[in-house]
Amino acid sequence: MLKLLRFLKPYSLAAAGVLVFMFLQTLSELFLPTLLADIVDTGIVNGDTGYILKVGGLMLVVALGGTLCIIGGNYLSAKVAAGFGRDLRSSLFARVESFSLQEFNRFGTASLITRSTNDINQVQMFLLMFMRMMVTSPLMLIGGIIMALSRDVELSKTIVVAIPLLAAAVTIIALKALPLFQEMQQKLDRLNLVLRENLTGIRVIRAFNRTDHEKRRYNEANRDLTSTAVRVNRIIASMLPVMMFSLNITTVAIIWYGGMRIDSGQMMVGDLMAFLQYVMLILFSLIMVSMLFVMIPRASVSVARINEVLDTVPEIKDPPQPRRAGGPGGRVEFKNVTFSYPGAEKPALSRISFSAGPGEVTAIIGGTGSGKSTLANLMLRFYDVDSGAILVDGVDVREMSQDELRQKIGYVPQKSFLFSGSVADNIRFGRRSASDAEVRHAAEAAQAADFIAGLAGGYEAEIAQGGVNISGGQKQRLAIARALVRRPEIYIFDDSFSALDFKTDARVRAALKEITAGSTVFIIAQRVSTVMDADRIIVLDGGSICGMGTHRELLESCAVYREIVLSQLAEEEIA
Ligand code: ADP
Ligand code: MG
Repeated sequence: MLKLLRFLKPYSLAAAGVLVFMFLQTLSELFLPTLLADIVDTGIVNGDTGYILKVGGLMLVVALGGTLCIIGGNYLSAKVAAGFGRDLRSSLFARVESFSLQEFNRFGTASLITRSTNDINQVQMFLLMFMRMMVTSPLMLIGGIIMALSRDVELSKTIVVAIPLLAAAVTIIALKALPLFQEMQQKLDRLNLVLRENLTGIRVIRAFNRTDHEKRRYNEANRDLTSTAVRVNRIIASMLPVMMFSLNITTVAIIWYGGMRIDSGQMMVGDLMAFLQYVMLILFSLIMVSMLFVMIPRASVSVARINEVLDTVPEIKDPPQPRRAGGPGGRVEFKNVTFSYPGAEKPALSRISFSAGPGEVTAIIGGTGSGKSTLANLMLRFYDVDSGAILVDGVDVREMSQDELRQKIGYVPQKSFLFSGSVADNIRFGRRSASDAEVRHAAEAAQAADFIAGLAGGYEAEIAQGGVNISGGQKQRLAIARALVRRPEIYIFDDSFSALDFKTDARVRAALKEITAGSTVFIIAQRVSTVMDADRIIVLDGGSICGMGTHRELLESCAVYREIVLSQLAEEEIA
């Protein structure tokens, strides 16, 4: 909790205002019963109407002041809590944005979403209650006890019984509830995960008739969360009867014992009335404290979950003094690079060395799982190498800023991802400042112009979330246009032509040749026809290079390559 207090700093003035308002309001509350006792014991007993009106008027003023204070306090505290929540959320978001893929995999998307919504809400709610109660409850408790004692010391013995009873009940309940709160947030994560999978995988679920199975899975997670929530609430709900019981028992004791004392002339009626009200204030403040106690465990679970994200330092970060690679260049060099994914048994890439320069096309071919996409991930520094080094324009990628590195690269991922927005927006994602003509030119080169013209609205046509309203091949072509419009020094096409038919594939590559002439180009592909005329073909097998050279050279020297070529030629001939 303490670590999060820095987010309160900008609001310290308003927070102080809350405390002052709450302080004044509590004072008014403590003052009122005394005035009431005066009216009863002096005004009514003596039949002094003037006195009654005077003190009554004062009571009205005090009550009104208290009301104004509580309005001010609630208004300010709501503002502070909301501002705190907003700042915390944006700081959490910024931190998550800086995560490398490693950290994403560690937390999981669902949990990151719960942490930045529900968990922050819990803390925000706690802060709100805490600000409203942190002055009121102790002041009311202590002030109430003093005032009650000043009314009648003898009668005050009655409270001594009630307070420990209440305190014990609250402690036991808080201790029992804490682990359950932890469980509840985890179950919320789980529910979130199942829901997300269901929403994004809806087509697969329908196609494989798994709707019932998924419904059951969701219901299970839902029921699981519900049962924990019910258990928690049962515990908390048991608090209220305990409190009401002690409250009522105390009231009975006071009236009984106080009645006897009035009977024997040791106490006045107004004193008893005031005393009763003070005891109510005392017990009420205890109830408030106990409510706070219920919220503390829940909030502290959330605080821990939020801090876990805030404290995670991304493994991939910019060096303190980044070296500039200068440009324009585009030379890429792998020096004996070995890399394994966290938790993997054997390396995804081992001892990879090659270099590629501007004006060259380097093709990477290999079976699925041979490490082709991993190679691209490393070039973009989505992960850091275990050993060896990757140099771009002579500078180790770990020594330059991520911005500079990625500025040099136009990347078409294996799984094309589009954003909701217009077609032009999506292409311009590659470079914000691209003119309309440049956007159109990139689309034409990617052979996307024809189908864009066919869309209602052309370049202004809306792409639905995730790009579900266009085909896979169309998505791929827009992703290619997005990389082209960037005019980078290095192009990486990760299996970007697989969803295109042979004719479109050939046309795209012909158009690309012109645009990418002066750049370093990497084409990752499965089809021999796509890679055949590259300057250099790297054949990957199980994470290592088993052959490098031109098509002709490899046909002679590399058995794996020959096998790939033979299998595909046969396939095409049959077709
Ligand atoms: P390709 O693109 O050639 O099909 P990849 O580079 O995607 O192959 O994968 C290479 C190997 O690394 C595979 O064995 C795969 O299981 C593993 N792998 C890929 N991505 C991850 C990841 N995020 N975490 C752990 N292992 C991964
Ligand atoms: Mg791949």
